[in-house]
Amino acid sequence: MHEASLAQQIATSVAAAIPPDRHGDVRVIRCLVGELSGVQPLLLEGAFAVVAALTPFPQARLACEAVPTRVHCAPCDGTFAPVHSRYACPQCGTPSSDVVAGTELLVSHVVYEAPATAPSP
Ligand SMILES: [Zn+2]
Repeated sequence: MHEASLAQQIATSVAAAIPPDRHGDVRVIRCLVGELSGVQPLLLEGAFAVVAALTPFPQARLACEAVPTRVHCAPCDGTFAPVHSRYACPQCGTPSSDVVAGTELLVSHVVYEAPATAPSP
């Protein structure tokens, strides 16, 4: 299953990026999921929930943010959102395949459990 292996890969890269002594404190892993990435954010979150127990962060959940597609128009030096898969600039009509956002699948940040407050004297 596509999303399950992606969820595993996300866990592996997060595990490699943070100090091992913080693994147990991870509560939320935030991801950016581009519209064109071929990944359904809800399916990826569900897949992570299934594999979480097998990762170093069994208490973590995945929170995905969908990133809409943006395409660069060179003549206008601006970006636009393609409408109905029509990759032509709405300002000048120039076709463009210079996609600048919407293909990403990346971890944007990791949220740790708040540190325990010291007991008051
Ligand atoms: Zn244009």
